[in-house]
Formats: sequence, C-alpha cells, structure tokens
Amino acid sequence: MKRQLTKLLSLAGVSVKSQKQLENTLILEVESKSKKAICPRCHKSSSRLHQNHYSLIKDIPWGETEVFLRVNRRQFKCEKCSKPFSEELDFVKKRQKYTNRYAQNITEQVVKSDLKSVAKRNNLTESEVESMINQMSEIVLPINLKNLKRLGIDEISLVKGQGKFIVVLVDLDTGKLMGLIDERKSKTIKEYLKSWGEEILNQIEEVSIDLYKMYKTVVEKMCPKAVITADRFHVTKILHQELNQARIDQ
Ligand SMILES: [Zn+2]
Repeated sequence: MKRQLTKLLSLAGVSVKSQKQLENTLILEVESKSKKAICPRCHKSSSRLHQNHYSLIKDIPWGETEVFLRVNRRQFKCEKCSKPFSEELDFVKKRQKYTNRYAQNITEQVVKSDLKSVAKRNNLTESEVESMINQMSEIVLPINLKNLKRLGIDEISLVKGQGKFIVVLVDLDTGKLMGLIDERKSKTIKEYLKSWGEEILNQIEEVSIDLYKMYKTVVEKMCPKAVITADRFHVTKILHQELNQARIDQ
C-alpha cells in the first residue's frame, strides 16, 4: 500500500510513510528518501539526524479528494559546524504551506480562466493566488520545448502589485504552461525567449499575441519563421469565460 501510494503521489525522491483518510481529505505522511542533507553553511553532507519537524502542506487534489502532505522536514546536525540545520526539499519551499506543483496547477488554471474565479473555485483568497503566481515566475518550469510549434503569449494582471503584469507563455497545442516572466519589458522577454535556444525559436510556426505592440516587435525579432496571429489565445479564453457564464445563467 505504501509503495503504491508513493508511486501514485509521484514526487521525486519522496516516499509515503503512512496515510489517513478523513471524509474528503487524504493525509499522507511523507519523507525524503535520502538519509543525508547538505549543510547550508559549509556544504558538507550530514547524516546525523537532530530532530523531526512536521507540517501540513497542501498538494494537488486526487479527483474530489483534497490531499495534504504531512511533511517531515528533518533537522540534521552538521559535524563540521556542530550546528543543526533543516534540510532543503525540492517540492516545497521553507515556510510554504503548499507544494510547488500545487502553485503551478493554480497558475495554469488562472491562465485558462481568471484570477477571481480560480480563487473562488479553489477556496483560496485572491492574494494567495497572486503569491502562487509570483512564486511560479521565480522558478524555471520543468518543460519540454521539443514539440513547441505554436506559442501563445498572454498576461495576467495582478491586483496587489498595482499595475504589475506577469507574462505567460503557453503551448497552444497542449495548453501547457511554458513559462512565466515577471516583468512586461521587451528586454526581459527577449532574454527569456533567447534562453530557449535558436533551434526552438526557429521551429515555432505561429505565435498568438494580444494587440500589445511590444510583443509583436519582440516576436518578429526572436521567432523569424513564425506567423503572428492576433490573439487566438485570448479569444479562446473569452469564449471559455462566456461559456462558463452561460452555464451559471442557466
Ligand atoms: Zn556545516
């Protein structure tokens, strides 16, 4: 059972120790498979367990079931510094109450609809959703660019940041998030696209953007082979919203 749950959870390097099911909530106690951690001060690895520290972290739901991870962020004692330190975990930042992939999932929902309804649907406040989007823009997403042919560029406007925009890059064929850029500056966007490499940029056949002129200039420069279409992405999104509204009205 534990092995199966570990497989189902599919968080790299993590194993499920026990499980508890409460009505619509599943709590999985998890721990890193590694027996060691690296000291942040001297970078020496240590296997001397000092203390266990448990906290409840929200993860993406399994169907209708809410999932929480009871995460043991262990403290080790460094033999060189002889001071305790707590381990780094790839899937959740320190003091964060949700996994990185939960934040990614919420961000992807915002890209497909809008911030307000995503907050409501997921029982989150708008500022919680905003901080998840901000967090996602700080990390490099694990993406596969190999099949990218049609790119959509859109933006999310954040309420809290006062006129702050997050630029969103989406694969139009799969609907997958390809990147988030936390500045709407042509230099920053160029640099981001450049990091994909020339081969990828040359294979892009179509880029769909809204009418913001700066995007057009950047795309013309960076993706020379691409046909620029006005806002296919936005149109789909508006359609989606209208369909939702029609459903609510009904
Ligand atoms: Zn140390």
